[in-house]
Amino acid sequence: MTDPAAFTSDDYAARMTRAADAAAAAGLAGVLVAPGPDLSWLTGYRPTAITERLTLLILRPGKAPVLMVPALERPDAEAAAGAPALEMRDWRDGDNPYAGVAPLLGNRGAFGMSDTTWALHLLGLQRTLPELRFTALTDGLPMLRAVKDAHELARLAGAGAAADEAYGEIVGVAFAGRRELDVAADLAGLLRKFGHEQVDFTVVGSGPNGANPHHEAGERVIQDGDTVVLDFGGLRHGYGSDTTRTVHVGEPGEEVRKVHDIVREAQQAAFEAVRPGVACEEIDRVARRVITEAGYGEWFIHRTGHGIGVTTHEPPYMVEGEKQPLVPGMCFSIEPGIYLPGRFGVRIEDIVTVTPEGGRRLNNTDRELRIVR
Ligand code: ZN
Ligand code: ZN
Ligand code: ZN
Repeated sequence: MTDPAAFTSDDYAARMTRAADAAAAAGLAGVLVAPGPDLSWLTGYRPTAITERLTLLILRPGKAPVLMVPALERPDAEAAAGAPALEMRDWRDGDNPYAGVAPLLGNRGAFGMSDTTWALHLLGLQRTLPELRFTALTDGLPMLRAVKDAHELARLAGAGAAADEAYGEIVGVAFAGRRELDVAADLAGLLRKFGHEQVDFTVVGSGPNGANPHHEAGERVIQDGDTVVLDFGGLRHGYGSDTTRTVHVGEPGEEVRKVHDIVREAQQAAFEAVRPGVACEEIDRVARRVITEAGYGEWFIHRTGHGIGVTTHEPPYMVEGEKQPLVPGMCFSIEPGIYLPGRFGVRIEDIVTVTPEGGRRLNNTDRELRIVR
């Protein structure tokens, strides 16, 4: 699998400037980012070990970005694609790294702090700088990574196409008589075969397990006559896939067909509602209305979707109360489901991107109830 064109230090510089400007517009003094998806998105730097030693990116409006790193990790940080855009500083074991960054932060205002920062580091900063305030980055700047550029969209489309190829093969394997875990291992292998470097989840919810949307995969042996929810995804070239199809082992009965038709109709209606300016909550409402009118509203027990990018779950969320309007370049899942406790579940999920004309699906396998053996 050839690597697509890499992001350049100019790409990272532009992202860091955008983040600092967005912080200023939101009334924040700046943005602080510890290792995790925000740091890799902003700088291209992915420390191999995320540890008790402080690594912190400091973004302030109108000032050069600073990366504070442990001295022993400085060579790795300097090799990151975004390093030319960074002012690099280091600290040594025995120093107080929080005192080291304090002069850069001033003594007033609030900083947006990356969600995945260890509490250890946030508490260290709070103790050292008691006059500063900190807010979660997804509270302060929820849309920072939400609108993807063409280069990011190409990677998300590639991840979606790879997940589709994995689905195309998984429907050919044996289900009946094998454990959920075995089918999940097949799915993980197929995601890797089609270019994923990281598998985040391989849900195989057979029979009654399908009624639990959080069920991953277990010891249950799949039976003839089971409905099976397959929800799988991970990262390919750093960008996420996440798709769900529901299959049936042997000929389905009338109720399974009916419930599957309702979910498919809800998924299609929500997809057709996608266009710039529509509020995220409206996507949820459209899907929910179809399921409620069919009499299954109380069994659709989660939000309709979530954003996706360098992580597989991020803002924007398609949920009641989210007023954020859709913007071209946003990418998110549309994944309504119906879960009948003790019996079976059905979910259908595609990643969709917003274009000026409406939605475009990044998953394009058929949404029929496929019969497996
Ligand atoms: Zn680029
Ligand atoms: Zn999913
Ligand atoms: Zn999802």
